[in-house]
Amino acid sequence: MLKIQGLNTHYGAIHALKGIDLEIHKGEVVSLIGSNGAGKSTLLSTVTGIQKASSGKVMLYDEDITNIAPYQLSKKKISISPEGREVFPDLTVLENLRIGAFSISNKGEIEKNYDRVFALFPRLKERIKQQAGTLSGGEQQMLAVGRALMSSPELLFLDEPSLGLAPNIVLLIFDMIKEIQKQGVTILLVEQNANLALQTSNRAYVLENGLITMQGDAKEIANNPKVKEAYLGIG
Ligand code: ATP
Repeated sequence: MLKIQGLNTHYGAIHALKGIDLEIHKGEVVSLIGSNGAGKSTLLSTVTGIQKASSGKVMLYDEDITNIAPYQLSKKKISISPEGREVFPDLTVLENLRIGAFSISNKGEIEKNYDRVFALFPRLKERIKQQAGTLSGGEQQMLAVGRALMSSPELLFLDEPSLGLAPNIVLLIFDMIKEIQKQGVTILLVEQNANLALQTSNRAYVLENGLITMQGDAKEIANNPKVKEAYLGIG
């Protein structure tokens, strides 16, 4: 579905991505794990056109979408739930969700997407009129994921959905990630919480200093002694 080939990104003299090759097949959850500063966010921002690639390619099926304009992502059925949530604090839950559906003109489809989001996250339904800035961190994360789903994506990027959240909320959100996969959405999960990410995904890539140093079946990666020591706190 998505194929990243030899992707390089620079911030001035800083070479943040050094020839990344990564593939996502339809229906998978693929996780990208790596410590602070490894380049995870840079990879997402390059694939989504926020950051310009210095070289390399991003292919969506047979289409070259390298350096796509971010506003065109929804047309390609790609959606992102950004790191730090970035909900609109002064707007209500409902208004935030409505913004997620900006690219959809069919009212029936928008209604269906509201229903789907509220079925996944009933807490959001209870709070439709609440200002997003007054939601708890976990609720804001639910809203960020829900808003990303409002554009009917086929490919969803989730940037650090566990960041700063209490363990029980994190578990709930990761259960919903599995549920979203069951509904047919392909997911790239960028996470520092390697343990949960590996439990939730089919395949995984390990990013270190801008390089992919390991890739494979998520269970195999989770059992790799180096990963256990460096990312899972075991060993
Ligand atoms: P974290 O988990 O802490 O968010 P990350 O894996 O997402 O880390 P990136 O934020 O992609 O890592 O950063 C990769 C490298 O690029 C780091 O060395 C970082 O300092 C650098 N970098 C990121 N954004 C910029 C920027 N706007 N200008 C210059 N350097 C940057």
